[in-house]
Amino acid sequence: MGEAKILRSPHPDVDIPDTPLVPFVLGRVSEFPDHPAIICGVTGKSYTYAQLADAVRHVAAGLHAHGIKKGDVVGVVSPNLPDFPVVFYAVVSIGAICSTVNPIATAEEIGAQFADSEAMLIFTIPELFEKCSAAARLASTVREIVVFGEADGATPYRELFAHGDTPPDVDIDPATDVAALPYSSGTSGIPKGVMLTHRNIVANLQQMQAITEVLDSTSRVLGVLPFFHIYGMVVVMGGALRQGACIVSLPRFDLEQVLRVLQDHKVRMANIVPPILLAMAKHPIVANYDLSQLKYLFSGAAPLGAELASACQDRLGLTVRQGYGLTETSPVTHFHPMDDRRVVLDSVGPSAPNTECRLVDPATGLDCEPGERGELWMRGPQVMKGYFNKPEATAACMTDDGWFKTGDVAVVDELGWYKIVDRVKELIKYKGLQVAPAELEALLLGHPAIADAAVIPVPDPHAGEIPKAFVVLRAPLTADQVMAFIAERVSSYKKVRQVEFVDAIPKSPSGKILRRVLVEQERRRVSSS
Ligand code: AMP
Repeated sequence: MGEAKILRSPHPDVDIPDTPLVPFVLGRVSEFPDHPAIICGVTGKSYTYAQLADAVRHVAAGLHAHGIKKGDVVGVVSPNLPDFPVVFYAVVSIGAICSTVNPIATAEEIGAQFADSEAMLIFTIPELFEKCSAAARLASTVREIVVFGEADGATPYRELFAHGDTPPDVDIDPATDVAALPYSSGTSGIPKGVMLTHRNIVANLQQMQAITEVLDSTSRVLGVLPFFHIYGMVVVMGGALRQGACIVSLPRFDLEQVLRVLQDHKVRMANIVPPILLAMAKHPIVANYDLSQLKYLFSGAAPLGAELASACQDRLGLTVRQGYGLTETSPVTHFHPMDDRRVVLDSVGPSAPNTECRLVDPATGLDCEPGERGELWMRGPQVMKGYFNKPEATAACMTDDGWFKTGDVAVVDELGWYKIVDRVKELIKYKGLQVAPAELEALLLGHPAIADAAVIPVPDPHAGEIPKAFVVLRAPLTADQVMAFIAERVSSYKKVRQVEFVDAIPKSPSGKILRRVLVEQERRRVSSS
């Protein structure tokens, strides 16, 4: 083994308070009790900080009364609503673990997550109760479903408020106790539970606050990124509430609603993903709104092209900044510092405080020389504890001395700014959401006419990437039939959108699909056309 070339953050380290997550995020409520904490941008339903803290205590006491104790997993299947943070922080405050689920997932996908996470109690909206009930039948651990409202057979949310506001005192060790269990497929395979400790999330909030835009109790924050995904959960929900800002939440993406919120609430800085940036750079209706107060758009979760970022800046007269991270790193590890004038649009910026990086050649395992591309490895207080119940998957991406292998390929310039230039892992990012090729391949193999299959990402101007399937047939089938077969079985964002029939899938001698060969072949085809 060659010597590790550790690249340190240019930022000074920050202190990470040794506190559980909830007192860290909601500890300053007495400074701004009557300020709004969250408002629904559609219904206007809202909580002030005092009301939010009170509701968190009530729901925590209610969960305790319903038998939820430290270490139990509680699932949340909900769009962004003012009650989302109430439930999230109530669960976490009593040492239980919140596992968030994409509300547009199918019953089978949700059931798989409930079963894998061993979820015991579920929160959802009345409209999703039937789907969650079907999902719960696939998981033996779920014993109760609570709905925000009412549904036959469900526990109404208000029932949880009937047990006082004094939840039990629980001993939480921030360094080892898990707070959140979002799902990510990591570098390979199907989605896995990512164990984020209280300290992981506290650390990441502290790391971000050291160098991003400082919010205060007059700031309004756009809450359109889904709270179930780590970016919405920590950067938007956690970051805003920790700093006393007001989140204007939107239950789903609708460009006109986003523009209206940005305009009416005079939002100064908005967290978005590249497809939203694309709409803001190109869509004609943007011109109908006064966005003069909007100074920064902060893009993350998927690659952002410099041309697109620059077009958006020119059109709206604002600054686009970029960050990078993963569910496994709570999420932020890199971002453009707010006070830096030298913004390189296709770079993700320097590493965050307390974050060490290495660039390692995946073929040789040796650290790269300056200027060379390598797989990005990282070490820091925001790196997950591991995958839930999957020691082998954890060992495959984490070394004994704490390095996490991202599966992304990066280069770093002489000033310490990183560019993400490629991906060695299987992952597909459709509009910033994860699609795991292994999941689609397993479904394809379930079709009687399909002998073998492999799925890879191909570039797409709107979604960033879309899934393309290479299929070996054993009986006649059309591309449309293949796509329809998958579309019936997965959430819409996971659909296979291109199909190519081939004679064989490239495999290693041990039988592993060589997706990389297909990716390279696809790139050569695009560049020669
Ligand atoms: P997730 O766990 O869903 O946040 O996905 C993490 C993955 O998204 C990373 O490993 C990258 O492949 C990709 N990603 C996130 N942010 C960026 C970015 N700014 N540029 C390029 N890829 C990104």
